[in-house]
Order: sequence, then structure tokens, then C-alpha cells
Amino acid sequence: MTTQPQFDAIVIGAGMSGMYQLLKLRELGLKVRVLEAGTGVGGTWYWNRYPGARFDSESYSYAFSFSKELLDEWDRSEHFAGQPETLRYLNHVADKFDPRKDIQFRARVKSAHFQDAGNRWDVTPGLRTHVTEDGQRNLWLIRGGMSGFGVPCHVRGPCPAV
Ligand SMILES: Cc1cc2nc3c(=O)[nH]c(=O)nc-3n(C[C@H](O)[C@H](O)[C@H](O)COP(=O)(O)OP(=O)(O)OC[C@H]3O[C@@H](n4cnc5c(N)ncnc54)[C@H](O)[C@@H]3O)c2cc1C
Repeated sequence: MTTQPQFDAIVIGAGMSGMYQLLKLRELGLKVRVLEAGTGVGGTWYWNRYPGARFDSESYSYAFSFSKELLDEWDRSEHFAGQPETLRYLNHVADKFDPRKDIQFRARVKSAHFQDAGNRWDVTPGLRTHVTEDGQRNLWLIRGGMSGFGVPCHVRGPCPAV
């Protein structure tokens, strides 16, 4: 008997990739938890606040395209937007689609191990995936290389295409 919270999918990181994965997995009706080391969403754009930090590709090309309303309502003030504006955009996405309720902040993942015996993933700190009726269990490892965290992890078990 375990008291660990159980989820269908655990996503590591609340940058662009992690937020998108959360929203897509939610659409599939999965119970998802995102573990994020920082205190807010945005990933790269949350961490990199040094003066002059900005895009090197055109701003308009850097946006979620899954919502026409979102695309229509957001405009960039510069061709190569700076970090503050990009972080504002990502927080706007978070305000609009409410990923935060499924994100645990200040939660740095230290390890993720697949347990053959229990047929599940155990993730430190203190979470696990649960086993579905068809025996599938999922751990989504979403992490970008720019934010500087490493995850010592053994990745096994199936992941559904989204
Ligand atoms: C200055 C700068 C300019 C850039 N310009 C462009 C550009 O013009 N065009 C472009 O396409 N890309 C650009 N990038 C790249 C940018 O990093 C990616 O486009 C994108 O933001 C990566 O998103 P991500 O969600 O995959 O990863 P990240 O944004 O890196 O997010 C990963 C998240 O995972 C969290 N995390 C990591 N490890 C752990 C752990 N063990 N436990 C818990 N949480 C963890 C981190 O805290 C972070 O929030 C730029 C990056 C920088 C720094």
C-alpha cells in the first residue's frame, strides 16, 4: 500500500514543451502532474533574465499554434522580442489555459526509476505513475537543454504518441 500520489503521466519542466505536453495530455483525459524546479512557468525565458536576452529568430515564428484565438490576440512589439516580453507571453498562455493547477513548482526531479515489479515509474520527489487497465504507464520527460538541470533517469516503458 502506498501513499504516493499517482498520475497517468508526469512531465518534467514547465517551459514551452512541458506546458504544451500538459495541455495535450489533459485533452486526452489523462491525470497529469508537471514537476518544475523554478517558481514559475517559462523555462528558458523564466531563468535567463540577463540584460539583452532576446530571440535570435523572428518573434512571430515563436508561438503556440494550437489556438487561433491565442494567435490572434497576441502581438509582439519587436521583430526579435526580448526576454521580458517572451516571458509575458508564456504567462499569458498559462493564464488563459490554466496549466498551473497541475504544476508543482519548486519541485526539482532528482530521479525517475521504472519498477519492474510494480510496473510503474517512481519519481523523486515522491510521485509515481499508476498502471492503467491495459498495463500502459507513462512518464513524459520534457526538459530543454538551456535551463541547466540534469535528470539522472532510467527511461523505460511505453509513451503514447500525442
Ligand atoms: C537567450 C536565448 C534565446 C533563445 N532564442 C531562441 C529563438 O530565437 N528561437 C528558438 O526557437 N529558441 C530559442 N531559444 C531556445 C529555447 O530554449 C527553446 O526555444 C525553448 O524555450 C525550450 O523550451 P523547453 O520547454 O523545451 O525547455 P526549457 O525552456 O529549457 O524548460 C525546461 C524546464 O524544465 C525544468 N527542469 C529541468 N530539469 C528539471 C528537473 N530535474 N526537475 C524539475 N524541473 C526541471 C527547468 O526549470 C525549465 O523550466 C533561446 C534560448 C535562450 C536562452
